[in-house]
Amino acid sequence: MILRSGDIGLIMARRMTIEGIEVVGVYEIMKTPNGLIRNIEQCLNDYNIPLHLSTTVVKIHGDKRIEGVTIANVDGQNKPIKESEQFLECDLLVLSVGLIPENELTRNTQILISPITNGPIVDENMMTDKPGIFAAGNVVAVFDLVDYVAATGEIAGRCAAIFIKNELTRIPSRKVSVNAGNNVSFVLPQKINTDATGTLDLFLRVQTEMKDAAVMIIVNGAPAKRLKKERVILPSAMVCVTLNREHALDKDVTIEVRGVNNET
Ligand SMILES: Cc1cc2nc3c(=O)[nH]c(=O)nc-3n(C[C@H](O)[C@H](O)[C@H](O)COP(=O)(O)OP(=O)(O)OC[C@H]3O[C@@H](n4cnc5c(N)ncnc54)[C@H](O)[C@@H]3O)c2cc1C
Repeated sequence: MILRSGDIGLIMARRMTIEGIEVVGVYEIMKTPNGLIRNIEQCLNDYNIPLHLSTTVVKIHGDKRIEGVTIANVDGQNKPIKESEQFLECDLLVLSVGLIPENELTRNTQILISPITNGPIVDENMMTDKPGIFAAGNVVAVFDLVDYVAATGEIAGRCAAIFIKNELTRIPSRKVSVNAGNNVSFVLPQKINTDATGTLDLFLRVQTEMKDAAVMIIVNGAPAKRLKKERVILPSAMVCVTLNREHALDKDVTIEVRGVNNET
């Protein structure tokens, strides 16, 4: 059995089924799946592997090897409900409970790390707080799509080349913070140079699923502009929004996700 429904757990469920292992199910503590919709379809539904939401493992049984687990439904606060406990026989439990950036090098270099992403805090050039040290991809935050990873790599590479030629004129310059507001767990980059020009992609992840959602930029505590509208936004799917030059910033901003009827 597999605990949690992130993409890796889903891919493992499919792979193990292909290899002849019976997967009794994927158990997810949240009330919505944690992986990409296409992985739910292609890894679970296509192989008739059941997904159990709002359920978790509360006990693992076995001495020399695993013999089974006790599962339980959880309440609104994700606390296991004792009366719902149930023993499930199994000889393998896969814990697919999340990824964190590989940040040993970042820590050793004493680069400022975000407690939310566990990766370095970067600006729009993908430069860390240490001038000349750039970061991109999963070392910054766990991305679900390689396209976004590649986009951050291109920015870091281009800006590192400019930096080497001493043409990144805004160093040192004043930076503003891009804060995560309502229903946003994190936004990348976390800093923007005040003299940044042109368009800029922001990557964010929401905390909970929201239908008919608007991604808003909040300046001085008031909504300044809607950056994107989505029929549904899920915690499992990173959102990319573009900030245009017209938003050239001179003070901290907050990115929020609100219902489309609640934009003002
Ligand atoms: C199991 C899994 C499946 C995925 N499937 C998909 C998918 O189907 N489609 C998709 O778009 N995305 C997928 N992703 C998302 C994935 O995060 C990105 O696609 C992408 O691989 C991340 O690229 P990266 O270069 O940032 O990190 P990685 O691909 O992890 O590359 C980091 C590299 O750095 C090396 N390294 C680490 N520390 C050091 C060091 N100190 N010195 C030198 N080298 C070092 C590592 O060995 C590794 O080779 C998947 C992720 C996982 C974990």
